Amino acid sequence: MIRLRDITKVYHLGEIDLQVLKGITLDINEGEFVSLTGASGSGKSTLMNILGCLDRPTSGHYYIAGEDVAKFNLLSRTTALENVMMPAVYAHPALSMKAMRERSVELLNLVGLSDRMDHTPAQLSGGQQQRVAIARSLINNPSILLADEPTGNLDSTTSKEVLHMFKDLNRQQGITVILVTHDPKIAAFTDRAINMADGLICEGISDMLSKDDI
Ligand code: ADP
Ligand code: MG
Repeated sequence: MIRLRDITKVYHLGEIDLQVLKGITLDINEGEFVSLTGASGSGKSTLMNILGCLDRPTSGHYYIAGEDVAKFNLLSRTTALENVMMPAVYAHPALSMKAMRERSVELLNLVGLSDRMDHTPAQLSGGQQQRVAIARSLINNPSILLADEPTGNLDSTTSKEVLHMFKDLNRQQGITVILVTHDPKIAAFTDRAINMADGLICEGISDMLSKDDI
């Protein structure tokens, strides 16, 4: 489903060329549950931005079937329900508001927020906001979910909640999930850990840790 071939990314900083991705070749199949780990500055976010079509590689090829991009930012003055509806309004302008509303309610139920539909992000906990973002990313029925440090600012209990939600989405709906994390325990919770170091990838960290750690 995702095929990266010799992807490079160079940032031009004045006179200096900073090569952040040095030739990434990677296949991710439909329905995989993948983590992307690596030290800060190793190029994880750069790669995720390319995967999500938010940025373009300097060279190389990126093939994707059925692309759909998920972002993790909520609109602050907008209720949970409206936040979830928003992408559908852009993607399917012909769809009735009623239909979009029904689907949004369904998704908020799915992420366990049926009693928080009319709350704005400020009225929700970090974990609840994250769940609204997940519901919103699902409204256009994506086949892939990309999450860059989705639990980065959450406490450990809420992190677990969010991670289990990703796993459920992967297992129950067959959505391909790729998440960036610097935490080896979170990487071990996924089925496949791809590690980045200095702009290149190497795999296998997942085997070193027990899946029971989380
Ligand atoms: P990670 O997410 O793994 O921490 P990033 O992909 O954000 O790493 O960054 C990798 C390297 O690229 C870092 O050295 C960072 O400073 C640099 N970098 C990231 N974005 C830009 C940019 N827009 N312009 C210049 N350099 C950047
Ligand atoms: Mg990053």
